[in-house]
Amino acid sequence: MDYLKELGGKRIHDHLDQKTAKPRYKWVPGPVIVGAGPSGLAAAACLKQRGIPSLILERAACLASLWQQKTYDRLRLHLPKKFCELPFMPFPKNFPTYPTKQQFVAYLMAYADRFEIKPVFNETVVSAKFDQVGAFWRVKTKSLKNEEAEYASKWLIVATGENAENVVPEIEGMNEFCGTMIHTSAYKSGDMFSGKSVLVVGCGNSGMEVCFDLCNYNARPSLVVRDSVHVLPQEMLGRSTFGLSMWLLKWLPMPLVDQFLLLMSRMMLGDTAQFGLNRPKLGPLELKNKSGKTPVLDVGTLAKIKTGNIKVYNAIKRLTHHAVEFADGKVEKFDAIILATGYKSNVPSWLKESDMFSEKDGLPREPFPKGWKGGCGLYAVGFTKRGLLGTSADARKIAEDIDFRAQLES
Ligand SMILES: Cc1cc2nc3c(=O)[nH]c(=O)nc-3n(C[C@H](O)[C@H](O)[C@H](O)COP(=O)(O)OP(=O)(O)OC[C@H]3O[C@@H](n4cnc5c(N)ncnc54)[C@H](O)[C@@H]3O)c2cc1C
Repeated sequence: MDYLKELGGKRIHDHLDQKTAKPRYKWVPGPVIVGAGPSGLAAAACLKQRGIPSLILERAACLASLWQQKTYDRLRLHLPKKFCELPFMPFPKNFPTYPTKQQFVAYLMAYADRFEIKPVFNETVVSAKFDQVGAFWRVKTKSLKNEEAEYASKWLIVATGENAENVVPEIEGMNEFCGTMIHTSAYKSGDMFSGKSVLVVGCGNSGMEVCFDLCNYNARPSLVVRDSVHVLPQEMLGRSTFGLSMWLLKWLPMPLVDQFLLLMSRMMLGDTAQFGLNRPKLGPLELKNKSGKTPVLDVGTLAKIKTGNIKVYNAIKRLTHHAVEFADGKVEKFDAIILATGYKSNVPSWLKESDMFSEKDGLPREPFPKGWKGGCGLYAVGFTKRGLLGTSADARKIAEDIDFRAQLES
């Protein structure tokens, strides 16, 4: 494209350090994208479709590192595939409605091949700052060998995800506990916990599914449920609960759809409060909309709670050598603790900008659908709290905007 040639003509040469004559920074004649997860790939593909090259910087040694390295073996997409495909490439027809993680990773690899996306791996972005004088972003990286590099670009696309770092809560006595303690990002299967008594802390989709998996490996799981939670069946009336909700929302207001979902859940799952899973006051969709808290789509865990195969406890008070003391005074022995306590964004640790991203939670200050664009050529993809559906919407808008602006300037 003309504007890229022009831009390249002006600045295509790497900026040389006067003293050492080594490149001080590498000029990238297109956007720099941080993160080679589904969001980074989707943004690169949408740009490519418009003839705009981009460069992805990824800290891991592979693409989709969250899916390849930090998820358990039995994981499948929680939502049906039609809500999880990236722009311009549907899932293969022979994939099941809920593809396995291996199938999803294969799809992402095929996606990168199809759009000739070749991320730079093992380069962690340690800082990104807008250079007011030169009007470009300076992106500094560190390699595995601690070698530093600096990239410069007019556009910076943040695609590091809502799940970049593990959240590990401070629990009294944590250092005293002498059993195994891991975050769910390190959990692969219940194999190593067979015959053991395991406490899973956190009752989101991951915590509930890990409990189910532990049962399948003859472990004795217990679940800590500190807050209220909406558990919904994964399917209702022969359709995915997610798909049905989307469809109903076209015709009905959200509170009414919520009432329908709660009625169906009551009929299909019973009163979850009876088993220690109290429902929040707001309905599942309203709660998701207001706070981003995702309802749990039950994969069979509730049945195991009902039969007593999984015990439910409320908040933890403290840990001791081999045991856990709960807020209600009960004390139980456990061999292992699995922290299903979630993830957080890492953007504030490296992006030197605070207008677009909140320093508190590392998410865009503007909620969906406005959070994708900041000032000075800064963009965000995949921070919508709407999973891969939100990623696709962001990626398309970003590519369109960069294309439009670049053409205006040319
Ligand atoms: C167990 C689990 C199941 C899920 N199931 C679904 C589902 O069924 N449907 C759905 O829509 N969503 C699901 N999600 C949400 C999921 O986060 C998204 O689907 C998807 O992975 C988000 O893609 P992303 O590219 O935004 O973030 P990520 O996949 O997290 O990718 C971000 C990338 O950025 C890299 N990175 C981070 N910091 C830096 C840095 N400083 N420098 C360089 N690189 C960096 C990371 O290494 C990573 O590769 C699930 C999440 C989990 C944890």
